[in-house]
Amino acid sequence: MKVYLDNAATTPMDKEVIEAIIPVMENDFGNPSSVHSFGRSTRAIIEKSRKQVAKYINAAPSEIVFTGGGTEADNMVLRCAVQDSGVTHIITSATEHHAVIDTAELLTESCAELTLSLVRHNKKGSVDIDSLKQLLEANKDKKTLVSLMHANNEIGNILPLKEVSKLCKEYNAIFHSDTVQTMCHYEFDVRELEIDFLTCSAHKFHGPKGIGFLFVNQDIQIKPIMTGGGQERNVRAGTENIIGIVGLTKAMEVAYRDLKEHQDHVQGLKTYMIEQLEANIPGVSFNGNPKGDSLYTVLNVQFPNSEMDEMLLYNFDIEGIAISGGSACSSGSNTGSHVLRNIGTDMTKPSIRFSFSKNNTKAEIDYTINVIKDLFAVTA
Ligand code: PLP
Repeated sequence: MKVYLDNAATTPMDKEVIEAIIPVMENDFGNPSSVHSFGRSTRAIIEKSRKQVAKYINAAPSEIVFTGGGTEADNMVLRCAVQDSGVTHIITSATEHHAVIDTAELLTESCAELTLSLVRHNKKGSVDIDSLKQLLEANKDKKTLVSLMHANNEIGNILPLKEVSKLCKEYNAIFHSDTVQTMCHYEFDVRELEIDFLTCSAHKFHGPKGIGFLFVNQDIQIKPIMTGGGQERNVRAGTENIIGIVGLTKAMEVAYRDLKEHQDHVQGLKTYMIEQLEANIPGVSFNGNPKGDSLYTVLNVQFPNSEMDEMLLYNFDIEGIAISGGSACSSGSNTGSHVLRNIGTDMTKPSIRFSFSKNNTKAEIDYTINVIKDLFAVTA
């Protein structure tokens, strides 16, 4: 049996998305910047997509910038905030995706006026809101960007977006949330949230890779970090990825059409897996806050030590189960997960991230539990 439980790394494309993309590949090749009919028709497709995307999050079409994915969108936020909005202080967290934390560190190293503060986490790995408030208060004379992800891609902990947004408003800080793991898994209303930036990546919700978008609140003006063309209303140079844009829009349509059904199904799988692990694997525990406010697609499990600690990922692979030892971006390096390290996890025990999608079944979870039971029984 082959079981794919690495959906936080990426998801397979939906059939409906593929079907939406094929006719565009066959027929719509004009450069959207060209003034002739070929160009005008692709331009029309892009603008229709932008309108649809904006509608799903209650934004204006002019607030949506298509990007080459989540990493680029996150980079744009941090770099533009410093370059164009006069930000001199960034508050973020050591458990952010590398696209945010590495960019924040690099910017701080290269800009003498810029300072960086990191929020504290509570015992379960969630952002300590009091610590955020203290940092805002202590730096209230500076123009601050707060960049905190909506749900952590490794442990699933969720940030109370509205509460943080309100706090940022009180201190006149710009607020960005990396919503790469939650866009199309929850509803968003940017007017209600009163947020400045959101970032999105289509391959996390059954769309194509290499396409995403940045929501930029209309009150904020940004300039391009990549120059060389006037595309995307002069903020993101480069010929638009029309195939990706159509795929992203279709994936979003499908996700929001079937949202409740998929939320219930995936949450059911996660709850079932927690119960089965607790019932069958002595010494198992969970990283993060899986029974609290937690992203329903992610479950980070800490296994007891055994002879096969080093071989655990490999053994899952042999049994046909795709999982991740950290985030996809950090697997392959030996440093271990920066998220687990920074929330004080016992790094001597092996931790595995299981991440689910609407395509997974209860039978796949049963198979996975049986494999885990066998793996730990063999070495017990
Ligand atoms: N932000 C988060 C929270 C992610 O999980 C990821 C992908 O793993 C990214 C950003 C980067 O997105 P992309 O793969 O589209 O560059």
